[in-house]
Formats: sequence, structure tokens, C-alpha cells
Amino acid sequence: MGVNGYGTIGKRVADAVDAQPDMEVIGVAKTQPNFEAHTAVKRGYPMYAAIPERMPLFSEAGIDVEGAVDEMVADADIVVDCTPSGIGAENKALYESHDTPAIFQGGEDADVGEVSFNARANYDDARGVDYVRTVSCNTTGLSRIIAPLREEYGVEKVRATLVRRGGDPGQNSRGPINDILPNPISIPSHHGPDVNTIFPDLAIDTLGLKVPATLMHVHSLNVTLEDDVTAAHVRQLLESESRVYVIPEGLGIDGAGKLKDFALDAGRPRGDLWENCVWGESIAVEGRDLYLFQAIHQESDVIPENVDAIRAMTESVDQAESMVTTDDYLGVGI
Ligand code: NAD
Repeated sequence: MGVNGYGTIGKRVADAVDAQPDMEVIGVAKTQPNFEAHTAVKRGYPMYAAIPERMPLFSEAGIDVEGAVDEMVADADIVVDCTPSGIGAENKALYESHDTPAIFQGGEDADVGEVSFNARANYDDARGVDYVRTVSCNTTGLSRIIAPLREEYGVEKVRATLVRRGGDPGQNSRGPINDILPNPISIPSHHGPDVNTIFPDLAIDTLGLKVPATLMHVHSLNVTLEDDVTAAHVRQLLESESRVYVIPEGLGIDGAGKLKDFALDAGRPRGDLWENCVWGESIAVEGRDLYLFQAIHQESDVIPENVDAIRAMTESVDQAESMVTTDDYLGVGI
């Protein structure tokens, strides 16, 4: 597997793939020899220049370059494209010219791939498919909750308000730094239609805001179910999901800040939280209406999904085996 675009998502995908028993990272492609390039070399990933003319910059920075990105694409069985939104679609012609299957990220339009992917919800749809889009962090977080609820009770309607971080920790040009922005202001937001790429017949309305935080997104969720349920039953259901962490009462985790501290204290790489973090106390039911709060670590929740997408596309193992393997070797599950 080769990673094209070694930033926030790309470096995590490389490490997650490297940790798997049935996969190998044959290279990572970068545009510039920055700190992430130096770390990639220390981790033993062969370095390729995403922009061939910039190869000398890497040599000047003391980084050996194996070649240009198209050589990596030619050698790889599959490429995970983790370039910024819109660049992935531009790169598709490169992958097609080498007959190399590729996975794109959630910042791309859905039509970049034949399938939009979430391992829990539609693993089999990506079997044998050459171009797949792993959905965004928010869509991944919503899909992991909606899939079991649909299977267990049936879902009539989802309403979700997404309180979104202004930017990732390293994105110092993003914001707001002192505001609370309805974003997008128009209602419903584009997130619901993105969830429909996973569940085409789902009734869902979403609203978005942006706040001065870098830690995580927080979702306020209302799901009208088809069956009468109890909060205790829903909690049990979510606790049985490997990529959902139901935060127990009594731990004193009252927000995203403490969740991140928890992850760092636990020795998680980069303080990553690959799981949806649902506050157990927030799970409430009024008639057929379920309510809950969940926090989504935008930098890492899509990482196990990319690993599973590789197995689905290469038809190596089934959904259950892939998800268990990914989780075991990455360390998912609290
Ligand atoms: P990023 O900016 O952190 O990383 C992108 C990397 O690609 C950078 O290292 C950049 O230098 C490099 N790059 C730019 N142009 C390139 C090119 N032509 N060829 C190769 N590399 C190039 O971005 P990111 O946050 O990792 O986002 C990548 C994708 O993942 C986007 O589609 C984004 O929407 C999606 N995504 C991001 C997050 C998040 O919160 N960061 C969460 C889920 C999905």
C-alpha cells in the first residue's frame, strides 16, 4: 500500500496499515520535506516526491527519495489518497493510468469513488471495487451509531446537530478563534446528504456549527426509532459495538478535553480516539425518540475504516474478520 498525501490523515493511515499483519507500506508521497517527512523516514517509510521537480528539496533536507509519486503508484497494489479536499479527484487519473485501485477521503465529492464506505454499515459494497471513498469523520461517526440502531429497532428519522471543531491542532489559519458560527448557516447542512451516501433511504436532517476548539467534534443526536425502546437497551446495544466507547459515569470525563487527556494518559498514539465516544449518561429515550451526545475525534476515527476498505477492495477477508483484525492490531476498543 502506498500513501499519497502524508498529513493528518495520511500519517495515521500509514501507521495503521504498518501495524496490520497482512499489509505493507511500500511508500509515502509528500510535497515537501517538512517535519512529517523526517518522521516518516524515521519510521522507515520509503519516501516519494509528490511533485517530481521538488526532489532536490528533499535531498537538500537530508531525505533520501526513492522516486516520484508515479513510481510508488505503479508499484503499489493499492493507494490511499490522503491529499487535501479536491486534490484526490485530480489524482484519480494517475491511479487509473497505472490500473492501481485507490481509496479517497471524505473531503472529496462522493462521485470520486464507485462506493462511499463505512466498514460497519456497507463493507460488502466495496468488495472488489477499484475506487472507494472513505466517508468524512462526521459521517463515519453518525454511520457507526445509525447502523446498529437501524438493524435492531428500525430508524424513522435522524436529526443531528454537529458542533464542529474550527480546525485541527496544526491548522493555525482556521477558526473561528472567538466566535460561534452557524456553519453552514443554511439548514439542513450538507452532512445529512453525505450520510445518505451510506444509507440512501435514511431520513436525516443535520445542522452544523463551528466553535473555537481543535480537539474533537461533538454531536447532539435525536433518532426517532420505529420500535419502543429503553435507554438501557440502547446503551447495551452501543456498548456491544467495537468502535463505540460508551463513557461510563463516574470517570469525570465531562468534555472533549478530558477525553483527549484520557487518550494521552492511556498511551494512545498521537492521543487518538478511533472510537465514537458516547456519554453514557446522555443516552435518553422519550417514547420512540432517542437522544445522546457523542464526541468524534476528527483526526483519527476514519483510520480503521481506511484499513478495512483495503481488505474489502482486495476481497481478502469478510467484514467481521477485517474489523476484528484492524481493531486488534491498531488497538481499537477501550
Ligand atoms: P492535511 O492538510 O493535514 O494533509 C494533506 C497532505 O497532503 C499534506 O501533507 C499536503 O502537503 C499533502 N499534499 C498536498 N497536495 C498534494 C499533492 N498534490 N500530492 C500529494 N500530497 C499533497 O489534510 P488532512 O486533514 O489529512 O485531510 C486529507 C483528506 O482527509 C481530506 O479529504 C479531508 O477532508 C479528509 N479528512 C480530514 C479529516 C481531518 O479532520 N483532518 C477528517 C476526516 C477526513
